Amino acid sequence: MAYKDEQLNEEKVFKDPVHRYVHVKDRVIWDLIATPEFQRLRRIKQLGTTNYTFHGAEHSRFNHSLGVYEIVRRIIYNFQDRPHWNNDERLLCLCAALLHDLGHGPFSHSFEKVFKLDHEYFTQAIILGDTYINKILERVASGFAQKVADVIAKTYEDKLVVSLISSQIDADRMDYLQRDAYFTGVSYGHFDMERILRVMRPIEDQVVIKSTGMHAVEDYIMSRYQMYWQVYFHPVTRSAEVILSKILHRAKYLYETNDFKFKLKPTHFISFFKGKVALDEYLKLDESIVHYYFQLWQEEDDSILRDLCERFMNRRLFKYVEFNPNLQMNEWMELYRLFQKANIDPEYYLVVDSSSDLPYDFYRPGEEEERLPIHLLMPNNELKELSRHSDIVESISGRKRTDHKLYFPNDLLNDIKDENIKNRIKAILYGRGEIKNVK
Ligand code: CA
Repeated sequence: MAYKDEQLNEEKVFKDPVHRYVHVKDRVIWDLIATPEFQRLRRIKQLGTTNYTFHGAEHSRFNHSLGVYEIVRRIIYNFQDRPHWNNDERLLCLCAALLHDLGHGPFSHSFEKVFKLDHEYFTQAIILGDTYINKILERVASGFAQKVADVIAKTYEDKLVVSLISSQIDADRMDYLQRDAYFTGVSYGHFDMERILRVMRPIEDQVVIKSTGMHAVEDYIMSRYQMYWQVYFHPVTRSAEVILSKILHRAKYLYETNDFKFKLKPTHFISFFKGKVALDEYLKLDESIVHYYFQLWQEEDDSILRDLCERFMNRRLFKYVEFNPNLQMNEWMELYRLFQKANIDPEYYLVVDSSSDLPYDFYRPGEEEERLPIHLLMPNNELKELSRHSDIVESISGRKRTDHKLYFPNDLLNDIKDENIKNRIKAILYGRGEIKNVK
């Protein structure tokens, strides 16, 4: 099976702050990047509301997608003469790497939760639907788009190809850890990728790591662990995300309330409110459009929508305390009632947010998410699962950590007229420890 792999007359490069250069020689890659569906990723930030915490985090899914493509290109270059590698799949891997995040929408995390959407569904829809992307892929070979979609959906028969794009040590993770570290400016997230690429070996249906590269992989696993807790789950970022979700809930509620008239009709959101989003409508809603609505909704007649939009646009975020509603059910119910009495709607202003992560795991059959482990290739050609050989990785393997926070607008609490209610609310919240100021 040989794909029509037309080359550009001369190699093109994109300057990249993480990988220095992204190299493009295949015409299909160049043409995919130029499509409206791919260019749209410039208007979707990679890290959603993280820039409220780390102001440098303005990079887009476009940057990240090019980065994943570049890493896969380098891996394949190293693989080309290895016995288990089938070089006919080169173009398939490159296209899947470039397009793996194509279906992400604005502030994916919150939109997916509120409107029950799935970006993976839209990635498939863009690749297989009536789109520029689909036409370009089908020019390579008839049925090629379906193969790209299968690799991204992890259903493609050659699991070696799938593992380059999604596994516990894949090009996706290697790019976002370094890129997110670079743009947030934190000192976590760095590891020696060049070293890892040099010790990766394709063996039948998986990529393994030569045992001499174990310490570079340990470093990668630890950076991932630290990035999750220091950056991705940062409580201030989550505060902005909580407000964003509540804006979407409120706007949907108002839309469904017949007697409410928006001054700015939520045209671009209507299919989201109705739960039936066609592909062309989905592609129109980027972060610029979302900001446009939030800016203008500050003038609506509904005080909750107005207030939440004003908070989001001006970064007047909710404060938070440690709070696990499963363990503190009575306090939770009392707070809920006190907020109601104080006329602060708890549905919008008293919000628990939980985040959890599993930094690395080995295969445990039957669990909800079966993870393929990372294997080390020992000098005697035996394969050994990473955590059996690395004490550092063993110490965090299979340990899921969850963090619960309770978010609320401290400024509104100070305005409560009834001193008894105000004091009781503060006693419960402050009893949870120091109130964290969102600076
Ligand atoms: Ca990704």
